[in-house]
Amino acid sequence: MANTTKSAKYVYQFGNRKADGNGSMKPLLGGKGANLAEMTRIGLPVPPGFTITTEVCTYYYDNKRTYPKALQPQVEAGIRQMEKIMGTKFGDAKAMPLLVAVRSGARDSMPGMMDTILNLGLNDQSVLALAKATKNDRFAWDCYRRFIQMYGDVVMGVQKAPHEDHEPFETVIGELKEERYHDHDLEDTRLSTEDLKELVGRFKKLIKQRTGKEFPNDPWDQLKGAVGAVFGSWMNDRAIVYRRKYGIPQEWGTAVNVQAMVFGNTGDNSGSGVAFTRDPATGEKVFYGEFLINAQGEDVVAGVRTPEPVQKLPSHLPAAYKELENIRKTLETHFKDMQDFEFTIQDGKVFMLQTRNGKRTGLAAVRIACEMVKEKVIDWKTAVNRVPAEQLEQVLAPIFDRTALKNTKVIAKGLPAGPGAATGQIYFNADRAVQAAEKKEKVLLVRIETSPEDLRGMIAAEGILTARGGVSSHAALVARQMGKVCVCGASALHIDYNKRTLEVGGQTFKEGDFLSINGTSGEVYAGEVRTAASEVVQVLIERSLKSKDSQTYQYYAQLMDWCVKATRLLVRTNADTPEQTANAVAFGASGIGLCRTEHMFFEGDRIDAMREMILAETTDSRKNALAKLLPYQREDFTGIFKALKGLPATIRFLDPPLHEFLPHDNAAQSQLAEKLNVSVEKVSKRVHDLHEFNPMLGHRGCRLGIAYPEISEMQARAIFEAAAEVQKEGLKAKPEIMIPLVGFPKELQLQLEIVHRVAEEVAKEKKTKFNYLVGTMIEIPRACVVADDIAKDAQFFSFGTNDLTQTTLGMSRDDSGSFLPAYQEAEIVKKNPFASIDQGGVGKLMQTAVELGRKTRPDIKLGICGEHGGDPESVKFCHTLGLTYVSCSPFRVPVARLAAAQAALKDEAVKTKK
Ligand code: ADP
Ligand code: MG
Ligand code: MG
Repeated sequence: MANTTKSAKYVYQFGNRKADGNGSMKPLLGGKGANLAEMTRIGLPVPPGFTITTEVCTYYYDNKRTYPKALQPQVEAGIRQMEKIMGTKFGDAKAMPLLVAVRSGARDSMPGMMDTILNLGLNDQSVLALAKATKNDRFAWDCYRRFIQMYGDVVMGVQKAPHEDHEPFETVIGELKEERYHDHDLEDTRLSTEDLKELVGRFKKLIKQRTGKEFPNDPWDQLKGAVGAVFGSWMNDRAIVYRRKYGIPQEWGTAVNVQAMVFGNTGDNSGSGVAFTRDPATGEKVFYGEFLINAQGEDVVAGVRTPEPVQKLPSHLPAAYKELENIRKTLETHFKDMQDFEFTIQDGKVFMLQTRNGKRTGLAAVRIACEMVKEKVIDWKTAVNRVPAEQLEQVLAPIFDRTALKNTKVIAKGLPAGPGAATGQIYFNADRAVQAAEKKEKVLLVRIETSPEDLRGMIAAEGILTARGGVSSHAALVARQMGKVCVCGASALHIDYNKRTLEVGGQTFKEGDFLSINGTSGEVYAGEVRTAASEVVQVLIERSLKSKDSQTYQYYAQLMDWCVKATRLLVRTNADTPEQTANAVAFGASGIGLCRTEHMFFEGDRIDAMREMILAETTDSRKNALAKLLPYQREDFTGIFKALKGLPATIRFLDPPLHEFLPHDNAAQSQLAEKLNVSVEKVSKRVHDLHEFNPMLGHRGCRLGIAYPEISEMQARAIFEAAAEVQKEGLKAKPEIMIPLVGFPKELQLQLEIVHRVAEEVAKEKKTKFNYLVGTMIEIPRACVVADDIAKDAQFFSFGTNDLTQTTLGMSRDDSGSFLPAYQEAEIVKKNPFASIDQGGVGKLMQTAVELGRKTRPDIKLGICGEHGGDPESVKFCHTLGLTYVSCSPFRVPVARLAAAQAALKDEAVKTKK
């Protein structure tokens, strides 16, 4: 199917087992277009059509919303080709007309973001031709009213205003049903031909009223308008919100697919459906999906009618079901991944309209990856890459506490659409849900059905509950992708948007009341229900479940085993207590990357000794107070060393400014004065003296140890005495002492002297030897720039990326909330730099420090201990920098391990390519 024009190729045709494009061309053809071409090539029944490339979208926005000249003739050629294959004419007014679907298709699927227009080419004349050719008046008029509705909405902009709860066209339909049948909820299939004709008239009137424009009658005008609307929708609010959330670059653009229509609404031998080759919620290898008899595809996802599960299809259309089962197998063997596909059955014949790799829950992702390896469909490396690191968190997410559940009543049941347990206050509208979430309420968004306008509310909510719609409804799709708990189609719920109430089984719930939903079973409960740990946590941490009794755990463990095979970058944890340490070790941490000693001073009466130390006026009295703290610290470290079972622990010396430990109100100050037997004036004066204008840049970090060496001395002693104690029991201890906030080499040298001296003293006293390192935290730009000098003394660097980000950007993390959203909106920063490393700035400094550090000390140990250690993208960046380890909170360890393994596999792939 060579294109005859010499200019750039903007249109790629597919049909009759041949296609210009193929599945690998997603950047150019979009995901939908590329896979339509691929399915055509492998002989699946795909209606013919063509794809207008994403380059046209880019051109469109670069050129004031105009098209390249060469486009129009290529589109005309595309339509001619379709006419030839179908044996019909576009918009024919005499014989069976060729009608088309105009479908958007970005590179990555963006569910619900861009709208599809079906039945294009119909007008007052061709509708009659369609009726005559199919001998089916009702069908023809049903197509026509659907077309006007979609076109009016998507192209002409007749949409729900923010204050309205229903689509204007649906309101018109509802009114007609009320008028003629006194039944607002009458099924659409029960509308007569006369009703549909009436609707066509009313729809056109509505469009005229709202836009001042006539509905276009000419099919070519219709096509132009529809293509323009698809490109235009790339920049609508919903699409922008979605792209921002998922980090999809604007430059990618969308493609447009124009495809011959097939009809699922010709009668009871026809239908439409959506299916998955495996269960996307659990990952189980079963044919999973749903369909509607006598319906066009939009009905299935719109949640207007609740579809039937695909297992019921054999009783309606057994031959079509058999064909679909075969297609299901073909798809998996060919695409080697779980597929999410859309089909339409016209008079018993199956047509494929779309396929893509199916979105799945974290649970399903892990299971499918493992099972596909067992089935020899993919290898283990592919399996590791198949689970998005972020999604692994879902596998660790809480479930409802079983005993708490026993005392609660199920008030309704819907479809399990997004697994997990969620409890929250209910809101019936996205805006109010967002407002409540901003006030730190836990929110459940409850809607009759959701639409893309609800996206912000869905993001803000803990969980989503709908009264209508199936497992492929908008709510379910979005929830699955965001990893939100979701129950949909709980039809027993009667939601009144006006009264803001939900009524079920005689009980009424108001906005703000608590409900709980189980997205794994589909159950809805009244009130708050306590949640419990996931099975993986029950096996590893709580040890309340045996590994052999949990399939989920076994898949998780398999995945983690593969990660070990691939990984180079190690994952440590940020932990301050033996318990946290033990948890992290259970999750596979290879040590502690950051142990913050200050947290240890807040417990029980330790704070008194700490305060006494701070209030001390002489070195001697300070030493006295410190001596009281020593046993506490030693005990903490002993516990941590034991929990580590010989793994290394990076322990940071005292870091925060001292005033953080003192009471600031009068009552607490006089209480303290009494306790320590000093005057209130003395306490309040000391608090006053310690006040700083900018504590983040004040007397903290190693500056404390420089001014009060005896603090460092006590901490060093506690660490080594603990190590000695543990070693006496035959265990190993590997302390790595970390000096914070170093900018000058001399700062480190002074602290180093203390550490080495104390180590020697304790070794002599306890007649033992220590295996330890001393290094520094790299968290201010100066340290990065003079890293070669610092490395003369430091045996390791650990990037404190929280402070390094603050000091490099000159932005306080705690104050950034007021301007960062605007920065993200304006795309000054792509991501929050406190959540994901600012690779272009902070990352450059890190790289400088790595290079300089290695120049002086080639084998220097390198790590990172900021919040960023749990962010998959930052983990991958650290791998690229060649760090030894990242460190993150215990429950993020599995996520970081997976991200580290994926980074290593990517490296390997790049190397073998070269
Ligand atoms: P989305 O990207 O939102 O899934 P699609 O372009 O896939 O949008 O279209 C939505 C639905 O419209 C499909 O699921 C299908 O049922 C119906 N549809 C799309 N193209 C055709 C076609 N050529 N013939 C019949 N129905 C179609
Ligand atoms: Mg689709
Ligand atoms: Mg710091």
